[in-house]
Amino acid sequence: MSSSNQKPPSRNPDDYIIATLGSHSALQILKGARDEGMRNLTICKRGKERPYKSFPVADEIVLVDDWKEWDDDFEKKLMERNAILIPHGSFISYLGHERVKRMKAMYYGTKEILEWESDRSMERQWLEQSQLRLPRVFEKPEDIDRPVIIKFHGAGGGFGYFVVKSPEQFYEVKNRKYPDEHDFVIQEYIIGAPLYIHYFYSPLTKELEIMSMDKRYESNADSIGRIRAEDQLAANIHTSYTIVGNMPVVVRESLLPDLFEMGERVVEVSKSLCGKGLFGPFCLEAIITRKLEIFVFEISARIVAGTNPFIEGSPYTALKYREPMSTGRRLVRDIKEAIVAGRLEEVLG
Ligand code: ATP
Repeated sequence: MSSSNQKPPSRNPDDYIIATLGSHSALQILKGARDEGMRNLTICKRGKERPYKSFPVADEIVLVDDWKEWDDDFEKKLMERNAILIPHGSFISYLGHERVKRMKAMYYGTKEILEWESDRSMERQWLEQSQLRLPRVFEKPEDIDRPVIIKFHGAGGGFGYFVVKSPEQFYEVKNRKYPDEHDFVIQEYIIGAPLYIHYFYSPLTKELEIMSMDKRYESNADSIGRIRAEDQLAANIHTSYTIVGNMPVVVRESLLPDLFEMGERVVEVSKSLCGKGLFGPFCLEAIITRKLEIFVFEISARIVAGTNPFIEGSPYTALKYREPMSTGRRLVRDIKEAIVAGRLEEVLG
């Protein structure tokens, strides 16, 4: 923390500034800070600042020509202003895990959990321990005996994933399109409806909340159904999952008890994995089958872009809060309450 060791951190929210990178869910986070009466700042790559100027939610826009400018000096300036950094998907991918780990500026969330989330086998161990139902993973291509989805490591937003159903098909696509990629996972393809469940866990209230849910709008997976099967074959179209946007979902109410328990188990197990465990916003990415089995294929341990349709709150937050409550606003409220209670340390990683 930037304040000296002798002096206890200020309990006045006005002495802090909520800061994030201009991308992903920044508009929501900045608006959340506004709504909670905290000052905010966004750090943008030059040329990408238009939305942050046009939608008037940022108090301050800091421009960088390259993310490499984010060095110790840059961070020092943020620390001098008591900036509290809010990570999101692009935050980690622009700055890199190493930079984030080394960061000395105040950072909302647990940094150690990033390792558990980004390493596929550690992530699986975490989800298995949480007793979630996971898609089967195949060790080698020769074992493929049903539809599987091939995921390359670090393929942000589903880019380059493909579906095959035999070893021959796998090698045909892999060798033709991705000859130099060797880091991938072969996962059973679950036929069902995708559902991304956005949770929030506050270390202050110790309560797990369901904030909202979404499904993704993907190119070209979401457009293939508009062409006849025959035409798809004729055009030799392969399904791809590049994310274009997100759409709100409200789930059938009878599934809610299970979804709450799943989130709770994930938080509980995380406490045994690393220091403070998982807190703040996170997302379970699931597929629900026709038998209503819930398969979880991934966890995101931070705010996801799927929360963006809910800047004015979701049906779930409308039930819980008397005011519009987005995930961005909820996390700023957690920070603000922690500051006032003299418990800021508990929400910093
Ligand atoms: P992010 O890291 O941003 O979550 P990603 O690159 O990990 O994105 P995913 O969300 O894992 O991408 O998956 C991309 C698409 O593939 C989604 O439409 C998802 O529903 C689908 N998908 C992923 N795994 C499976 C699976 N095991 N069975 C069926 N569909 C799957």
